[in-house]
Formats: sequence, structure tokens, C-alpha cells
Amino acid sequence: MSRQPARWQRAIDRLGSLERATRPVADESRTALARRWAALPDHVRTPSQTLGRMAVGCEGTHGVFPRCNFTCTPCYHSADANRVRVDGAHTLAEVDRQMAYLASVRGPHAHAQLIGGEVSLLDPDDHAEALAIMRRHGREPMSFTHGDMDYSYLERLVLGPDGRPRFGRLSFAGHFDTTMRGRRGLRRPTSEAELNPYRQEFCDMFRRLRAEHGVKFFLAHNMTVTPRNVDEIPQVIRDCRSMGFNMLSFQPAAFVGDERRWREDYRSLDADTVWAKIEEGAGARLPYRVFQTGDERCNRSAFGYYLGERWFPVADDDPEDLAARDAFFTYLGGIHWGAPRALLVARLARVLAAHPHLAAIAGRWLARRVRQAGGVVAVVRALRRGELVPMTFVMHRFMHAEDVKPAWELCQRGETSDDPRIRETQERLQACFYAMAHPETGEIVPACVQHSVLDPAENAALVELLPLSRRRTVPQPASAPATAAAGKGELC
Ligand code: SF4
Repeated sequence: MSRQPARWQRAIDRLGSLERATRPVADESRTALARRWAALPDHVRTPSQTLGRMAVGCEGTHGVFPRCNFTCTPCYHSADANRVRVDGAHTLAEVDRQMAYLASVRGPHAHAQLIGGEVSLLDPDDHAEALAIMRRHGREPMSFTHGDMDYSYLERLVLGPDGRPRFGRLSFAGHFDTTMRGRRGLRRPTSEAELNPYRQEFCDMFRRLRAEHGVKFFLAHNMTVTPRNVDEIPQVIRDCRSMGFNMLSFQPAAFVGDERRWREDYRSLDADTVWAKIEEGAGARLPYRVFQTGDERCNRSAFGYYLGERWFPVADDDPEDLAARDAFFTYLGGIHWGAPRALLVARLARVLAAHPHLAAIAGRWLARRVRQAGGVVAVVRALRRGELVPMTFVMHRFMHAEDVKPAWELCQRGETSDDPRIRETQERLQACFYAMAHPETGEIVPACVQHSVLDPAENAALVELLPLSRRRTVPQPASAPATAAAGKGELC
């Protein structure tokens, strides 16, 4: 008899655990999203804003391996970056510190970029461990590379000491464009088209990895845009759309980083011109206002897919799709889509059970997609031929260091500039989508601030800590003291 209450208690505890595990949005995520939304400036609290509704934003590492073996023009890293030794122990300690801090402030889940100089200069085991650390902190990592690596590197990254894959999936962003110098076989490309074999080879390595080791992949293509290559964007898109990439991302160049690498008048590139070139390449209007990521002067994104040669958005800017988007934000905002499948299904089932009208909304949304794509027969035919390619277009416009420096100083003093250009910079920093952590000061800063303001001192300190000529293997916290904390956590 006396065992009965204990058994009941265990059953109640188990039910409680199950209820918490299948709760559509974790409490910590909900809190982090609400905090992010509350910190956003009014001008970006639009119905289409994803920050604070779907996500807290993207994150990146800094000061973890600043060195690179390319000499690109421009380069966002400070002049000292290449004088810092790549050191696995330092990388792992820093990644751990930064990701732990991000998780503590921004909640349990986010996408994060393993970024610095060139990621493939890391020993493959260190690279693998860095990815594992990021995942342990709830970050879905993406490694950033110039793509000039061998298949053997990828294989050593993926396979553990027992010869078995240590990951089920990898995400990489490959940077390919004519601003880059140093690629084996093509040191100084003169046209974007010359890079196509290298882009294809990059994608093929991941296909081989999947075929030989069952490791899935997501690949993004990054291209720095300058006045010289902006007109080549449309052809780059046409050439890349079926190579294996699922995101084509364009970064208009900014005056940031190493001044010796600045070549052209980057201020002459305006957002609409670059976006028009992207649309020309996609062969479609790209409705970037359906889902806004931060400030639209920083970021434009269009989520969609190719069916054969035509690109379609997952949601268009018509009333029915916008209503579906609003329902998506309201009922599914904050869901961790990277959760294990069974858990995700259980969470979605709970949402549906609580809001059964979502089934009709989803059904009508799907019917519109099929109609738009030419009907059921056309869609089935394309699916059979493997012609459905998810493809997101992104434009991310970093800001010029000479604007970011005064804007950041004013942000830290809680003041607003009278100068429209600096005020715009402040507004964009406040709505930043791409952040980096400084646990030592309690700051999370926009990547623009990292590269424009903090990198020079940080890299100078790293040169002392990790000089090229001497060997030191003791991991130490390496970030240079940043400027005085602007308050715990968030951006500006
Ligand atoms: S503030 Fe800078 S890093 Fe942040 S989203 Fe805007 S351009 Fe990107």
C-alpha cells in the first residue's frame, strides 16, 4: 500500500516531463524572443518582422581563428588578423565561452556561424569539436570557408576516430567571387564565370560525402558585390541554381577592415540596384517584405524554391499569403524546427490540436503553391525528376566603419545623432540580425561593430597571445577588453 503514492508520483512526474518536452515553444525561448522584441526599435516592429517572433537572430564567432590564406579585396578583418596563429585549443575555448554566453542571454536555440579567417585552416578534429560545442549550446552551426579545400579535409572533419560519421548533417557557406585572391588554380579570377568549376567542385565534394558516408548537407553561396562584379550577379545565379546550393547570399562591399584591401567606390552600390540584379538572375520578383530579418536597409531575404527553371516564393505579398504568414508567426513562432523529428511532430500536433483551424489555413496555402506552380501534374513531374530545389536569396549590407564607429559610441552613451547617416546607422545597429558575444564585458554586439570597432584591438591582443613564430598551447581567454559595457546582453 505504501508504494502506491510513490508510483503515482512517478507517473505524474513522467507526465509532467512529457508535457514540458512536447510544449510547442520552450519557456526560455519564449522569454528570449519577448526580450528581443522589446529591445527592437519601433521602425522594425512590423507585421513581417521575424526577430523576436521566429528567432532571436543569427550569431557568429569572433577572434577564434582570424587567419586566412587568401588576400581578398576587400577583407573585413583587421591588418593584424593574419599574424595570429591558428590554435585549436584557443579556438575551442573561445567558441565554448562565446556560445555559452549567447545561450544564456538569447535562449536555447539559434543559428550560429563558425566564422573568422578561414575555417579549413583548423585541424579537422578541432573543427569537428567546435561544431560539437556549438550544438551542445543549442546553436546550429554553419562553417564559413573560401571553399579551397580538398575532399580529404571534409572526410576527416566528418569521420570520428572510429571511422564512423560523427555528424548526420553539415552546413557550409562557400565564398566565391572575383574579389578573392589565392585560390589554387585560379589565383586572380577575372570573371565570375571562371569560378564556376570551383563552385561545382565544392558542391560535388558534399554530394560525395553524402554518397559515401550518408552525411546530409546545406550549402550557401556567398558573393561579395562590388561595382566591378555587380552586373555579373544574374549569370552567377543562373549558373549556381542547380549546383547544390540552397542559399545564394550577396554582400555589397563596405569600407570595413583592412584599408590596404579597399579598391573601389563601395558607396556607389545601392540596395535596390543589387536587389534588381538578384531578381534578374532569379527571373522572378523576390518579395523580400514578406519576412523581414532585422532592418531592411541591412537585410533582404526571399524564401522560396525552384521548380525546374522557375523560382517561386513560399509566401507572396498578397493578402491570403500574408494572413497565412501571420498565423504562422502567431501559432508557430519560436518553435525549434531543428528538434528531433518525433519531438517536433508531437509539438506540432499539440499546436494543431489547440488551433484546428490551422489545418485549413495550411491546406489553402499549399493549394495556392500548387496552382502557382502550374498544377498538380507539373508539380509531381518536377518532384519525380528531382527538379524541386529550395532556394533562398539574401542580401546583407554591412555598414562602413567610419559610420559605425561614431554610431556605436553614441549608442553606448544612450544618445541619438542629429546626422541622418549616423542616425540610420544607429537604427540599423539596434535592429541587428547578426550578433557576436563578448562574455568578458557582458556585451552582445552587431557584427558591424565587431569588425569596425573591436577587431583591431582584439587581433592585436591575439598577435601577442598566439604569435606565428612561437608555439603556445595553453588555452586562455583571448578577447581583448572591448569598450565599456553598454549594459548586459543585447545589441545597441
Ligand atoms: S547592423 Fe551590420 S551586422 Fe547587423 S544586420 Fe545590419 S549590416 Fe548586418
